[in-house]
This record gives sequence, C-alpha cells and structure tokens, in this order.
Amino acid sequence: MGERVSRRAGGAIDSRCSVEDQKRYYSFARFLLQRYGERVSKISVDAGWTCPNRDGRCGVEGCLFCRVDSFSRMESLQQIPVAQQVESGVQRGRQKGVNKFIVYFQASTNTYAPVTALRSVFLQAASFPDVVGVSIATRPDCLGEELMPLLTELAERVDVWIEVGLQSVHDRTLQLVRRGHTYADFEQAVQRLSHLPVRVCVHLMLGLPGEDHAMMMETAERLAQLPVHELKLHPMLVLKDTAAERLYRQSAYRALELDEYVELLIDFLQRTPADRVLQRVTAEAPAELLIAPLWPLHKARVHSALQREMERRNARQGRLCV
Ligand code: SF4
Repeated sequence: MGERVSRRAGGAIDSRCSVEDQKRYYSFARFLLQRYGERVSKISVDAGWTCPNRDGRCGVEGCLFCRVDSFSRMESLQQIPVAQQVESGVQRGRQKGVNKFIVYFQASTNTYAPVTALRSVFLQAASFPDVVGVSIATRPDCLGEELMPLLTELAERVDVWIEVGLQSVHDRTLQLVRRGHTYADFEQAVQRLSHLPVRVCVHLMLGLPGEDHAMMMETAERLAQLPVHELKLHPMLVLKDTAAERLYRQSAYRALELDEYVELLIDFLQRTPADRVLQRVTAEAPAELLIAPLWPLHKARVHSALQREMERRNARQGRLCV
C-alpha cells in the first residue's frame, strides 16, 4: 500500500477542516456527513499480512519512505484477531459518541493473501452491525481479476473503499522510490475496479525525490482523467531508519517547507475535479520517528495555512479542470 507514514490505530475522520476549507475543496468529513448523516470513525486494523515489496516478490527493502515497524501499536495489533480489534474500536468510538464505523485495513498490503483468507477476514469485519464500510489499502499490482468477485460480494454488504498506493504517475519516480510497480499496473487496476460498486481512493505524495512542479501537476491532470473517486494527498515524510533518511542526511533530498507544500497542494487541488473527495490533505507520523519536515506534526497549522492561502488566491478545487 502507500501510506506507511500515518499509522494511528483508529480515530475519528478528520473533522478539523473548517467550514471555509470545506467550501473550497470536497473534504471526506463533508462526504461522510452527506452519506451517513452523522459522525463516522475509522477503526484501523492489522490483519498481519505482508507486502510484496518486502517479502521478495518484487523487493525486500520496501519503498524508500516506508518504515514497516514504525507503528508499534499496529505491530502489536497483529497478535489480536481482527474481530477483536474491531470490537475494541467500536467500544472506543462509542465512548466518544460515535455510532458508525469504517474498518480500515491499513497496515501493509491488504489484498496480498489467498482469496479465502481475505474473504473470511473482510466479511467478518463487515458483519458488525455498526460497521458501515470497509476500507482496504493495497498496491496496484495486488488487485488481480481473481479478487473482483470478493470485492463485489463485500460491497453488497457494506460500502467499500479500495485505497490504492500510487504516489506519482511517473515511472521514473516510482523506480527511484522503489515502488516495485509501474503506472501501467495502476491504470490496469483502476480499470478493473471501475466495473465494481466500490469507491477508489488513490494515495499520492507531493515532494518526492526528483519531482518538480510540472511533474506533480501532470500527476494531477492524468488522474483527473481516470475513474477514481477520492484522493489522499500528503508531503513525503522522512522517517527515522528509512532509505529516505539516508538520502536526507547525505543532503541528496530536501523536504518541502510548509509554504511550498501549500502552494503545490492548491495547484494540485485546482486540477482535481470538484466531485473528487479529499480523504486527506496532510500526513501525520509519531514525533519520535519524524526526521523531516516537522511541520506536519501541527495539523491544525497546516489546515489553517491551506485555508488562508486558498482564500488569498481565491482558489477552489477543480477550477483549472478542462
Ligand atoms: S507498498 Fe509495501 S513497502 Fe511500500 S509503503 Fe506500502 S507497505 Fe511499505
């Protein structure tokens, strides 16, 4: 999958977007309110599956920015059956007044296991009465034809999100960050999913090594042409004990400053069709693991910088879409 950076075990959907934010781009909080009429929490679970970019099928080192053991809570969750993880998440949510939940298969690649094993775990998660959705994070090269009947079956019970890690449409970048798949793999997966009653969410990073403004805008423009419903955008984070940290220490990689990120993000959003939901516009990581940049630790500051700059520029999602 593509989001090893933000591994908080569960939590309410980002509701810190202000009303102004939500007018200028289509936030996930707004989508959930429209769809369910009330607050919804995500329960992050870990089924203990691995990743083909770690177990040798397409690599052993993982993506440049990925730190597999970065989220100790999730690591420990592997020992707990998924049903129990869901149960605890529901209880925690209820204590906070939340009654509807999306089970988020977040860690590693959640379609990289035999279909029978996947079926048993996904259907179990969907069987909880308060669970309205299941969100499955994975990679483009792990969405083969054999999975489509299972995803269709699951979508008959609850809403289904397939979160596909892509990061960039440029093969040169994918190779540089050691993704172990191509953009063509992604297009093929999205076409396959487009025949299913599921929502497709694409994970993308801004500020990847070797990428300039034009390359990132090309990613926005090419994605705008594809049948996807949602995006998760965030800056590349340099985490402790990753290959990215080595590059950063050798001064071979420079992390984005907040104002640079906000500019890029707005330019990206303006090229993103207005009906695409933004599940995420920034990222989080445990403070003790984050090397650079450090500003994502202050999520409210990022949101308010985005809001201020969108207002100043009178920017809006989809404004530059043709
Ligand atoms: S694809 Fe695998 S190696 Fe890459 S970020 Fe996801 S879990 Fe990590």
